[in-house]
Amino acid sequence: MSTDTKAAKESATNGSPKPTSPNADLKLDFASFWEYSSAPESSEKVTIESLYGHFIDGDFVKPAKGRMFTSVNPANEEVLTELAEGTSEDVDRAVKAARNAYNKKWRTLSGKERGKYIFRIARMIQERSRELAITESLDGGKPIRESRDVDIPLAAAYFFYYAGWADKLDYAFPGRNVEPVGVCGQIIPWNFPLLMLAWKIAPALATGNTVVLKPAETTSITALKFAEICRDAGLPAGVVNIITGAGQTGSAIVNHSDIDKIAFTGSTKVGKIIQNALAGSDTKYTLELGGKGANIVFEDASIDQAVEGIINAIFFNQGHVCCAGSRLLVQEGIAERLITKLKDRMETLIVGDPLDKNTDIGAINSKSQFERIEEYINIGKNEGAEIYQSSCSIPENGYFCRPTIFTGVSQSNRIVQEEIFGPVLTIQTFRTPAEAIEKANNSQYGLSSGIWTDRGSKIFQAGAEMDSGVVWANTFNKFDPTSPFGGYKESGVGREGGLHGLYPYVNLV
Ligand code: NAP
Ligand code: MG
Repeated sequence: MSTDTKAAKESATNGSPKPTSPNADLKLDFASFWEYSSAPESSEKVTIESLYGHFIDGDFVKPAKGRMFTSVNPANEEVLTELAEGTSEDVDRAVKAARNAYNKKWRTLSGKERGKYIFRIARMIQERSRELAITESLDGGKPIRESRDVDIPLAAAYFFYYAGWADKLDYAFPGRNVEPVGVCGQIIPWNFPLLMLAWKIAPALATGNTVVLKPAETTSITALKFAEICRDAGLPAGVVNIITGAGQTGSAIVNHSDIDKIAFTGSTKVGKIIQNALAGSDTKYTLELGGKGANIVFEDASIDQAVEGIINAIFFNQGHVCCAGSRLLVQEGIAERLITKLKDRMETLIVGDPLDKNTDIGAINSKSQFERIEEYINIGKNEGAEIYQSSCSIPENGYFCRPTIFTGVSQSNRIVQEEIFGPVLTIQTFRTPAEAIEKANNSQYGLSSGIWTDRGSKIFQAGAEMDSGVVWANTFNKFDPTSPFGGYKESGVGREGGLHGLYPYVNLV
């Protein structure tokens, strides 16, 4: 028991006067009253090889130039493994394997046969779910509760969902002849590694395409374990190829002349580079890019429910979420009360070891992302905003950031306009619904938003006026394979998920 807890207990038994103000209780030091014993998930059963090659044509192979790079655990900065650095030679080899598999095998299979392989992959993700969840937390820093309960089950769910479509494409597109597109180049970010892979590979395979996928440099291990699953599932060689590497490897995929479609998820900056590279070519593309989601709380909302929703909207996955609710807009009449409750709730969040089942906020994914978040926190302070950070303890090693909110911000502040991609929330107030919508839409992005209110009519009215691909009502950050996802404005082009997610992978004739 900490000394603070002891002192509090002693003062309680000494008969000190009870707090009289209704808020006084809330000022108690929650962290020391509710100390949890650690409940670490074990990483002992998980094997991470000391070295991984690319997965090309059904086998792990050495990189052409023999160059390797390391992947670290962001919670303790220890090296987890060495990965192959993909060059244009490796990409070319993978594209040739994918083309061969496309022409000779995959496109010739019936939808029912393709579906069997995809169902098998989905089941094998479930079978290896514990190992995959632990690996995701080790490599990327996310809390085990999230990788265990969100990332991996959802990844399996996307494979199950699209496996179901494989033999029903004639019903998805009635009266049309459905052809696959061909070889797809897919590039994914580091915030939901296996889940983003599932969003890309499952619809591509269901529709008869083959793929060359590059995971993000800092979080490639679950993609390589997925490669093992493809091999163990007996998936024909060359249907799925995984090439590891950095931005240059991604660029080699984008610029390869024998790729028919590019699917990219990542920053708006790189999305624009890709759009430029593909302009004038007949390569199809979808871009899932950045966001700066507005989360609007009207004064008729249930405040406690909204506070939980705000916490989930911005602190889920350390705020490394493209559709995070990173701009809170609160109606003036309830702002003070809501912010007080929000601060109290922030004090209860546990920041620390990603493998501890009590942890709410794990490690920031990489040193460079950590520095970027620190830079934005300094920008916010220099812009004159008022900062509040929870007083929790954080580990000495690794990259950790306290949950942070900024009040007293205005629409023109950089921290309100730019995507921080960390556990940092800006809070603004509004008086009328029109003002809330105007502020919400005043952004280069249009990926997600949230509305908290007791009135269904307000949800429909405000929701319809929001320039946003996703609008959540009285909830946030909920995902489902049947639901399309994607952005307006600089948040991207095209949709993934649901029936809509099949379109980018088919030619309709
Ligand atoms: P990023 O820097 O754009 O990288 C995304 C992927 O592209 C990584 O695999 C990256 O490789 C690769 N890449 C980098 N430069 C490239 C180039 N010139 N050509 C081709 N590929 C290149 O983004 P990030 O920092 O990994 O991810 C965070 C961003 O993703 C945020 O902006 C977030 O909003 C967005 N995101 C969007 C969605 C969505 O669905 N809309 C979902 C998740 C994330 P390296 O790993 O080596 O950098
Ligand atoms: Mg890593």
